[in-house]
Amino acid sequence: MDGFDSNEGIIVIAATNRPDILDSALLRPGRFDRRIVVNMPDVKGREEILKVHTRKIPLDQDVDLKVIARSTPGFSGADLANLVNEAALIAARKGQDKVTMADMEYAKDKVLMGVERRSMIISDEEKKCTAVHEAGHALVAALIPEADPIHKVTIIPRGLALGVTQQLPLDDRYTYSKDYLEAQLSVLLAGRVAEQLFLNKITTGAASDFEKATEIARKMVCQWGMSDLGPLTFGERDDLIFLGRELAAHRNFSERTAELIDEEVKKIISRNYHRAEELLKKNRRKLIRLAKALLEKEVLDSDEIAQIVGRIKKPKPTIIFPGEKRISPQPTLATTIAKERTSNSGPEESNQEQS
Ligand code: ZN
Repeated sequence: MDGFDSNEGIIVIAATNRPDILDSALLRPGRFDRRIVVNMPDVKGREEILKVHTRKIPLDQDVDLKVIARSTPGFSGADLANLVNEAALIAARKGQDKVTMADMEYAKDKVLMGVERRSMIISDEEKKCTAVHEAGHALVAALIPEADPIHKVTIIPRGLALGVTQQLPLDDRYTYSKDYLEAQLSVLLAGRVAEQLFLNKITTGAASDFEKATEIARKMVCQWGMSDLGPLTFGERDDLIFLGRELAAHRNFSERTAELIDEEVKKIISRNYHRAEELLKKNRRKLIRLAKALLEKEVLDSDEIAQIVGRIKKPKPTIIFPGEKRISPQPTLATTIAKERTSNSGPEESNQEQS
């Protein structure tokens, strides 16, 4: 690479997580001519990665790597390797000679949501509170069409959390729409809303929900131009790209703008807090049913939730542009809610799917 010798027939390959700080001398023509960006694997990639990691592991006939690949969007190669390893450990612990699909599922939950801590002693009162909180998340996620569908809800402590509501997108996502982000906000805030509405008390359990919600709302205003302040970005960031973490943010705006940003963030948060509140108020009975089922079974999967909520989310394959007419208009949740609001005397739980 010194530029004097010409070493023919030699290909130099290098990898970095920080393409932004490479010396420009390295990037001159004739040195590294091709740059390939390696993203998180897509569904096909995940299947191939799983094939590599399961090569030396005896798999039961029922293991379908395609299904696992489809249900793990956002997993990195290392996550998938971890999943296979965990599944093998579980199978070995149970004395099986093959890894089954159930082991894979268990390992997936472990990687996604953390280790179960069944030994932790929790009072009945606390359990009830967790059940209502998680039921709030799950119900709002099920009711808002744009939100990711629920994978599992549990009140068995996992990792640092007392309960977990795990959503999984139907497909790999590369960009996020404003509707989707606002739906995520409503789902995040619904835990606290449920506590307040149904137990008339608030707990510290919602702290991490608020943290995530505030971060999303702030990015909507400052980075993605999704607020009334318009399509602008505020603040210059030095991002550690490979960590996805903000190192330092330089303020390039005035005190007055800072105030406006705070106001916008607050507006977005309270708008979604109220949406969650409306939804839960209208679906009181469903929430209570969900919370009771959680207390009884401790874990609910997507089918069980759909049965209680009476709503199953399916991917919408048709692409419709604004202004284009749908051939058979399906009533969406948003329109049903709007209708109820105008009639103002809708009976409880009237926004069930009408099909
Ligand atoms: Zn929560």
